[in-house]
Amino acid sequence: MKPFRFRQSIWALCIFATTFVAGSTARAQPPQNVGHVELVPNPLVAAQRGQLPIILSAPHGGEAAVPGASERKGTGLPKGPQGFFTGRDTGTEQFAIELAAALEARLGKKPYYVVARFHRKFIDPNRPAEIAYEAAEAKAPYDAYHQTLAQYCREVQQLFGRGLLLDLHGQGSARDTIFRGTQHGKTVTLLIQRYGEQAHNGPQSFFGLLEAAGCKVYTEKDGKERAGFTGGYIVQTYGSHGPYTIDAIQLEMGADYRTKDKRKAAIDKLVNAIEAFSKLYLPALPLAAPLENKPQDK
Ligand SMILES: [Zn+2]
Repeated sequence: MKPFRFRQSIWALCIFATTFVAGSTARAQPPQNVGHVELVPNPLVAAQRGQLPIILSAPHGGEAAVPGASERKGTGLPKGPQGFFTGRDTGTEQFAIELAAALEARLGKKPYYVVARFHRKFIDPNRPAEIAYEAAEAKAPYDAYHQTLAQYCREVQQLFGRGLLLDLHGQGSARDTIFRGTQHGKTVTLLIQRYGEQAHNGPQSFFGLLEAAGCKVYTEKDGKERAGFTGGYIVQTYGSHGPYTIDAIQLEMGADYRTKDKRKAAIDKLVNAIEAFSKLYLPALPLAAPLENKPQDK
């Protein structure tokens, strides 16, 4: 049973390291959902395991059909962007993957990402499973999206103690603007506990840094987020108010950030903001080496 004890000891080490670094400002409760599950890759979900405490998610940009599945009908569900909605966030699939490559070029290491290849007509990963899909064939890609995202959050938590999840979306109401969704700060609870309100609102916040990088951002004077863009199921599930120590921010980007001809300039601005945010608030080095690099137990 040596391998089992070895695995236990690794997790214990990780949990100890996480707890040690989290210090007295973190919640008293230890992180839940700790453990390793074997991920089942799905061709309709693009994913990259990273080396930075940064996770990108893009659930609504895919164009692919789900083989054998009919489109969702949403019978009985309220209609609209916050309810049952099947419109794509055009360009966000490419945006996420190109942003990951640009971050790697700038920072020298890969971020994590999970990107939907499937179309929202079949699956909406930004909804709980009960209303996210209707066809049985859609269950596996939906589960793959969330199991991968959960695994990456656990891994970042265990390796770095904390991290940043950016959930990338598109909106059609203001083409030059990015709206923030954190449930008015709830999904970045640990960030605020650790660094104060200025890390969430104002010039040193992620959106303040986006603005400094040349993006037009929307925030109310009282810090409240625009109704309808306050952050959906993904940031509500993986944000730092819950079992993970990952601060999660939803970005609702206008078309000027997502169209093919403007994407590169937009990504350059995001990279500047993410780099600045990382230097202010994210750990530069992992607390522990990735598990596969550990010496074998012999
Ligand atoms: Zn969306």
